[in-house]
Amino acid sequence: MEKLSVKEIAAVLGTQSDSDAVIDSVVIDSREAGKGSLFVAIAGERFDGHDFVSKVLENGVQAAVCSKIPNGVSTEKLIIVEDTRTALLQIAAYYRSKFEIPVVGLTGSVGKTTTKEMIATVLSAKFNTVFTQGNLNNEIGLPRMCFRIDSSTQAAVLEMGMNHFGEISRLTQTARPTIGLINNIGVSHIENLGSREGILKAKMEILEGMKKNAPLVLNADDEMLFNASKSIENPVVFFGIDNPQADFKAEDIVQDNDSMRFTIKYNGGECEIKLPAIGRHNVLNAAAAFAVGMQLGISPKLAADALAEYTPSGMRQKIVTKSGKTVVEDCYNASPDSIKASLSAFSSMKISGKRIAVLGDMLELGDYSETAHRSCGGYVADNKIDILFAYGTEAAYYVDEAKKKGIETMLFRDKKELTDKLFEIVNEGDAVLFKASRGMKLEEVINELYERWA
Ligand code: ADP
Repeated sequence: MEKLSVKEIAAVLGTQSDSDAVIDSVVIDSREAGKGSLFVAIAGERFDGHDFVSKVLENGVQAAVCSKIPNGVSTEKLIIVEDTRTALLQIAAYYRSKFEIPVVGLTGSVGKTTTKEMIATVLSAKFNTVFTQGNLNNEIGLPRMCFRIDSSTQAAVLEMGMNHFGEISRLTQTARPTIGLINNIGVSHIENLGSREGILKAKMEILEGMKKNAPLVLNADDEMLFNASKSIENPVVFFGIDNPQADFKAEDIVQDNDSMRFTIKYNGGECEIKLPAIGRHNVLNAAAAFAVGMQLGISPKLAADALAEYTPSGMRQKIVTKSGKTVVEDCYNASPDSIKASLSAFSSMKISGKRIAVLGDMLELGDYSETAHRSCGGYVADNKIDILFAYGTEAAYYVDEAKKKGIETMLFRDKKELTDKLFEIVNEGDAVLFKASRGMKLEEVINELYERWA
C-alpha cells in the first residue's frame, strides 16, 4: 500500500486530526498492527476490535478508528466515527480512487472464486495484477484487497460476495470497477433475498459503482441475466456456450479426464483453448475470463496460453489419483448449481470402475432446502452415478429422489461410518466425487481415506 496521512484519512471520514503522522498499512487484526499502521476497530462475532485499541496504541500504531472511546484510552490518536465498518469502506474507496488502473469487479452466485482466479491468470499475463485472496470478498475483505494496490499495480480483480441487499452496492462503490462481471444468478443465499429475482436485483447493484460507459460482462446462457441486460444503460459484453448472441462463444467442447478443450469464437476471430479443469461450467468461467482479457487488450493467444496454465485453488474440483483410485475433491462449497455442474463433469470422466458420488448437505438454503436436495438427488440418477453416498440431515432428500430412480444409495449421519464404508468398497479404477457445503468438512473423510490407502 502507498502511504496516506492521518489528516487525509480523518478528512475522508468527515472529521479532523492534528496528527502529522503517515500510515503505510490499514489493519483490523491487532496482531498485524505495526508502527506504520492505522488500526480500524471492528466488532466481530467473537471479538471487538475496540478491546485491543489500547494494546495497538502501546505498540505504536499511528491512529485508531473507533466508534466509541475504549476504557482508559486517551483520545489523542483516535478517529471517532459512527460506524467503523463503513469507515473502512470509505478509506478503501478513497485509496482506490488514487489509482487510474483497470479494476474488474465480479459477483455471481456460483463460480466467483474460480472465475476471479481465471481472470487474474489472464490479466497477469500482461499486467502486474492484484486480485482477491481466498474469499476475502465481503465488506471487510474487499477493503483489505484494495489496500494491496500500490504504485506498481497495473490491474486489479476484486470479488464481491453478498448475503443481503445493499452489500454489493457498498462494495462496488468502494471498488469502482471499470469492468463489471456477473457470472450467474443461482439460489445461494435465497434465504435472505426471497427469490431469484431478488438475487438478480442484488447482483445488479454492481452498476451503482460503475460509470455509464464501463462495460458489464454477463453470462448470456443465464436467462435472467440475458433478459435483465435489455434494461441496462452500460455496454454489455456476453459470454456463453448455448446462446448464439454471446460475443464470446465457446464451441466444440471436448472433455478429457483432466481438462477441457474448446474454441472461443468472437467477432473477428476464434481461439482454441485447453483448460486444465473439467466441466462445462469451467468452460463458461474461462470464456468470461477470456472476454474480460480482450476488453483490456490482452491478445487471444496470450489469454489462451495463460488459461492453459490455470490451477484450481483449494479443494475446488481438484482431481487426485491415489493408489489407482480417482478422487475429485470438490468440498469447498456447494449449492444446487455447483452440485449439478460437478456431477455432470464427474459423469463425463473416463474411468474403468465404479463412479461413486459422496454428497453432503447444502447449507443456508432455508425453505428451499428440501426442493434443492431433492432436485440434486434426481440429478445423481440422471448422471451415470453407480452409488450415492449421502451424508448429513438434509441429505436424506438426495437419497429419497435417487432411490426413486433406482440408484443404489446409502445415508450416513456419522463421518466415521461413511469413511469405513468408502474404505471398504472403493477399489482401484473407481472414482469418487466429494461435494458438500464447506461447513460439512468432507475433507476430513478424504484425508482419513488417503491415510488408510497409503
Ligand atoms: P464461489 O466463489 O462463487 O463460491 P467457487 O469458484 O468457489 O464459487 O466454486 C464453488 C464450486 O462451484 C466449484 O467447486 C464448482 O463445483 C462449482 N462451480 C464453479 N463454477 C461454476 C459455474 N460457473 N456454474 C456452476 N457451478 C460452478
